[in-house]
Amino acid sequence: MNLKTVALAGGVGGAKLAHGLAQILPPENLTIIVNTGDDFEHLGLYISPDLDTVCYTLAGLANPVTGWGRIDESWNAAENIAKLGGQTWFRLGDRDLGTHLERSRRLQKGDSLSSITRDFCKVWGVEHRIIPMTDDPMPTIVNTVEMGELPFQEYFVHQRCEPTVKGFRFEGAESARPAMGVEAAINDADAVVICPSNPWVSIDPILAVTKLKSTCGIESTSKKKPIIALSPIIDGEAVKGPAAKMYKELGIQPSALAVAKHYKGLLDGFIFDQIDAEFETEIQNLGIKTMLIDSLMKDIKGRERVAKDVLKLLNTLL
Ligand code: GDP
Ligand code: CA
Repeated sequence: MNLKTVALAGGVGGAKLAHGLAQILPPENLTIIVNTGDDFEHLGLYISPDLDTVCYTLAGLANPVTGWGRIDESWNAAENIAKLGGQTWFRLGDRDLGTHLERSRRLQKGDSLSSITRDFCKVWGVEHRIIPMTDDPMPTIVNTVEMGELPFQEYFVHQRCEPTVKGFRFEGAESARPAMGVEAAINDADAVVICPSNPWVSIDPILAVTKLKSTCGIESTSKKKPIIALSPIIDGEAVKGPAAKMYKELGIQPSALAVAKHYKGLLDGFIFDQIDAEFETEIQNLGIKTMLIDSLMKDIKGRERVAKDVLKLLNTLL
């Protein structure tokens, strides 16, 4: 398949489709740009949850049960930290800690997140290019009714997404530059795929990085390359995580239609689950080409199947 593709991805949902695409597209034809709005410092270490989920997934090192962290993990360090009275709300396994220790050491000596990611991927045998959206700090802040503004992980993990969401802020978005290779990959691509990640807190931060929208051709009138998305909302629910809850709390009925509208003006094509066929006409009326599929990616076969559908729709838009 010689379609040059860029995929925009958050963590779990993004990693599933990216993994499927990587089964089909050769390394030179797929670049995955990953959200870093979730990044934060914990136990003195730099943690990049979405980046690690995508890298571990493509490397075959991801924990299939938790959806985060590594397979064959042990928890000696975490248990010891707990005994010593330290923080335990964000769980880090022993193997995973190795990643954070070495990444933090290299960041401290001045290496960029993108170059460290490239080096780690080489060691993990990941041939497809994975790039953080920016090397600059750009933390997502969640504004909540009950607790005011919360740093993303404070909301997502510590408070278990329980506070009612009022809005989001991507701190530093105005000055954050795309990481090295991001713009080139988009300019070079035939098409852009928005993975079925959380639109509010996984994809919107990527699109908020300065200049990234215009690089995508999204804001230019003479749009050059097709952009398609796969809905993370199936039958009004998120497969995992707070996406549907966020839509509701922001006064929007969660649905495939809501996701298509979320990306309005951006999309040429939209893939969503066949269970949501009732929305097809309304989505088409937005000027978007539609494809209905079984969009649940239960295993590696499912990921590859859905990725094939994505490429099929893209091919009709070229
Ligand atoms: P996070 O950063 O780990 O929260 O993950 P993402 O933002 O990348 O993905 C979260 C979204 O993935 C959720 O809204 C889920 O509904 C969606 N998702 C997870 N698995 C699937 C799947 O198999 N199919 C589809 N269509 N969406 C999925
Ligand atoms: Ca995430």
